[in-house]
Amino acid sequence: MKKIICLFLLLATSTSFAGISNCTDGQAGEIAAAEKAVLLKLIKIEREWDNFRLDNVKKNFVIPQNRVWVNSNPRYVDYHHYWSELGATFSSMRQKVESGSVNYKCHSSWQLRCDKGKTMAYVLFLGNYSFKTVHICPAFFDPSNRQTRNGILLHELSHSIAGTEDLSLSWVGNGTADLRRGSKDAYHLQEFQDMNPQMLLMRTVWTWMFPKKK
Ligand SMILES: [Zn+2]
Repeated sequence: MKKIICLFLLLATSTSFAGISNCTDGQAGEIAAAEKAVLLKLIKIEREWDNFRLDNVKKNFVIPQNRVWVNSNPRYVDYHHYWSELGATFSSMRQKVESGSVNYKCHSSWQLRCDKGKTMAYVLFLGNYSFKTVHICPAFFDPSNRQTRNGILLHELSHSIAGTEDLSLSWVGNGTADLRRGSKDAYHLQEFQDMNPQMLLMRTVWTWMFPKKK
């Protein structure tokens, strides 16, 4: 009899927030809200992504803004690679999040990897293999975080689902960018959550790829 009651309780708690473990109800609600915001953003990005293909950038940005276009520029090959890699990554993230199969686990701040409140969330790696659970530290819920909660969640999901790396935007700056590294940078993907994708691409990539005609 006792066993049946236990089983029932177990089922009752696991159905309220599927895939979220070790969290308070409040924490689980906040994780679920952030995941929903990330999903909406991923859907929006996927819908717009074709506009950012090289030929469309030429048509809608380079030509109307009177910018330089050089035929067979090797940068354009890198851009195509960046565009298709990122597009595939966002799409697989959207599918995985939409299927509701991402697991989250909350930890207390004395958990070693939460690093006394310095780490907000993490995903475990073994070599290139990323484990599928997103670990959430108490700092994730701190309202004074400089980074947004939705952005942090998208960052971690990109590690867990697409094996992205922490390149901390080191591939971009001084009027140039290494786009092949950029498409793997979790910090760059995170920017898409917090910014308008078109504005972000314009600012980070297009303006240096296509300088203004003199
Ligand atoms: Zn990271």
